[in-house]
Amino acid sequence: MKTLLLSASDPAAPAIAAEIIRNGGLVAIPTETVYGLGANGLDENAVASIFAAKGRPQDNPLILHVAQSSEIEKFCHSIPASAYTLAEKFWPGPLTMVLPARDIVPKRTTGGLNTVAVRCPDNDTTRAIIQLSGVPIAAPSANLSGKPSTTTAAHVLHDHDGKIDAIVDGGPCRVGVESTIVDLTDARPRLLRPGGITPEQLMEVLGDLVIDKAVTAQIDKDAVVKAPGMKYRHYAPAEPVVIVSGSREKAAAYIHRHFVPGDRVLCFTEELPLYRDCAPLAYGSEADVNSLSAGLFAALRELDDPAIHQVYARCPVGGGVAYAVQNRLKKAAAFHIVDAEEAP
Ligand code: AMP
Ligand code: MG
Repeated sequence: MKTLLLSASDPAAPAIAAEIIRNGGLVAIPTETVYGLGANGLDENAVASIFAAKGRPQDNPLILHVAQSSEIEKFCHSIPASAYTLAEKFWPGPLTMVLPARDIVPKRTTGGLNTVAVRCPDNDTTRAIIQLSGVPIAAPSANLSGKPSTTTAAHVLHDHDGKIDAIVDGGPCRVGVESTIVDLTDARPRLLRPGGITPEQLMEVLGDLVIDKAVTAQIDKDAVVKAPGMKYRHYAPAEPVVIVSGSREKAAAYIHRHFVPGDRVLCFTEELPLYRDCAPLAYGSEADVNSLSAGLFAALRELDDPAIHQVYARCPVGGGVAYAVQNRLKKAAAFHIVDAEEAP
């Protein structure tokens, strides 16, 4: 199959992409978070081809992307008032809500669950594609399963050239990490994945938020969890990643003590001068956490190279968007963290 490359700036692109979606094909779509691998979310066969292209475990559900919030009533029931408030405040935007699913949503899309994840992306081209296709677009991140997510069309081409019908190039993704996921199907709202909408922003609206244990710790692969996607090895380059926490000076001293040729350092722009002889790669500025979220996956992809022995990574501290960056980096490191203040 030849993969068609469409540009979001081409006025004909949304109609061409929508036609492919309607015909059961696969289209990689740009969003503000990451590129998604999209198909008709109501068509079991189309959805099955997303799982096949990614090599994604069948129990890892997809997110249904809608063009406007009023559409969620077609796919969800028993919608709490808080869902409307969140949609009003944060849609279109990087927030996914998990709600009880209507029967119209195939079990393949929900990974067998009775709930479905819905989101309205902040990308005009992608919302136009959804609108024109007349169906919700089911999409996970467009990377091969387990690999760092795709934040440019080139990343998608690298993983899927010749295997999917089309890629819509909308430039680099602004947020750069996947959407925040909040589960609204229990008595208390639960954060399943941190992202561009922060826990603090959710708390302001909801007044309550449970942080799911899958956010903060490694989950056993046989565990029954709320967010099936969170238990799999994720975002990981080929070689081991270890996070080195602690002050700038202590971390640099630790890394210099342990660095051997073949290792790499993933750090903040401000730290580049400290690692001149340690093959450093900066993913953004520590002073601008949005640059870190926007740059993280491209950097992890660049480091996805079997010739690399090990990566020492620096991770931002604090809440807000930094919380999402910590989550992705910790998962990439399989929660392997060394405290440079104490470690020999
Ligand atoms: P991705 O954006 O590639 O990580 O894929 C979608 C994410 O949404 C996965 O982490 C899923 O576990 C999560 N997700 C989708 N549907 C549900 C659901 N019904 N309940 C909980 N998590 C979900
Ligand atoms: Mg993903």
